[in-house]
Amino acid sequence: MSGIYIHIPFCVQKCNYCDFYSVADAEKHLPFFIQSVLNEIRFYSQQLPIFPKKIRTVFFGGGTPSLLSELDISAILNGIQKYFELDVNAEISLEANPGTISIEHLKGFSRAGINRLSIGAQSFVSDELELLGRIHSRDDITTTVKGARSAGFNNIGLDLIFGLPGQTLEDWQVSIHRALELEPDHISTYALTWSNATQTGRDIESGTLPKPEEDVISEMFLWTDEILTEVGYLHYEISNFAKSGFTCQHNESYWNGTPYLGLGPSAHSYLDGKRFWNVSSIDQYMEKLKVGELPRESEEILTPEQKRLESISLGLRHYTGISLSIVKDKMDELYQLETKGLGKIQKDRFILTVKGFLLADELAIRLA
Ligand code: SF4
Repeated sequence: MSGIYIHIPFCVQKCNYCDFYSVADAEKHLPFFIQSVLNEIRFYSQQLPIFPKKIRTVFFGGGTPSLLSELDISAILNGIQKYFELDVNAEISLEANPGTISIEHLKGFSRAGINRLSIGAQSFVSDELELLGRIHSRDDITTTVKGARSAGFNNIGLDLIFGLPGQTLEDWQVSIHRALELEPDHISTYALTWSNATQTGRDIESGTLPKPEEDVISEMFLWTDEILTEVGYLHYEISNFAKSGFTCQHNESYWNGTPYLGLGPSAHSYLDGKRFWNVSSIDQYMEKLKVGELPRESEEILTPEQKRLESISLGLRHYTGISLSIVKDKMDELYQLETKGLGKIQKDRFILTVKGFLLADELAIRLA
């Protein structure tokens, strides 16, 4: 079993905090882009015979996949069906931007085979949406979620960002409470990361925007865990919460080492200890496929040490933790972490507590 990720590299405009690869002129590129993705699917089916053919998850990410039409989505899914074996119960997710989508559009996605929507809400506070450079209002989020339900979607996630410049715990609580009113099946809460590759990062570095404070971010994280678990969501990964039966299977495969194929510019793939990724340029991507080449930029074969660090680091972020067998030389350290309330040993696993999640990256390095 394996997964396929398709990077749809188009956005109406660039959000201030975003460093994902995307371009603005979707209409100009779309027909040839879809054909390029179909070519890439065919090439991989022929050139990567060891990639497991049975596909259990498909994820349309971006960028803004909700700029695609029902026909575009159908064409790509038909291509996958033609060259791989798409499981009849496959989870097929699409990231939707509330500013780009109508009820008719949502019905079309459902007809095309999408059965899970991940809606990029980011915030329910108007000033924050403006700060982030989002193209939608908070009312657009509500309209999109309600529209998705009436279009037949019964697996809907909302993505939210916290730790914004100037954001208080009370501001963040507004977003979480508004989100809960919409009863999503899944909630992702990402702490803002910044670098000078984004406008927000440059504004923070230059002092134009206040630097988010670590203790406020920690407070938001701990509060989020408390409120969402209290109302029945499982905190199954550092940034992800789900109602029972609604964890994101595609993301789970990233965390448990399942092979996945990434299609589209800048998309990453993983197979058997090897990572490879595509060029971050739509022109180069389409050009290479046109002349019969795979649009690879580079690849990396993980050393045993890298594999160990990766499995510890991904495992610690997950609610099932890591097997004691991979850290058996660190038992003293595990007992110390348990004493400090940062983790717990349960049978043959070591699992971080919510306080431990706050230090997950640092602890992964220590344990590896
Ligand atoms: S819509 Fe998403 S991918 Fe596009 S610029 Fe905004 S955050 Fe980035």
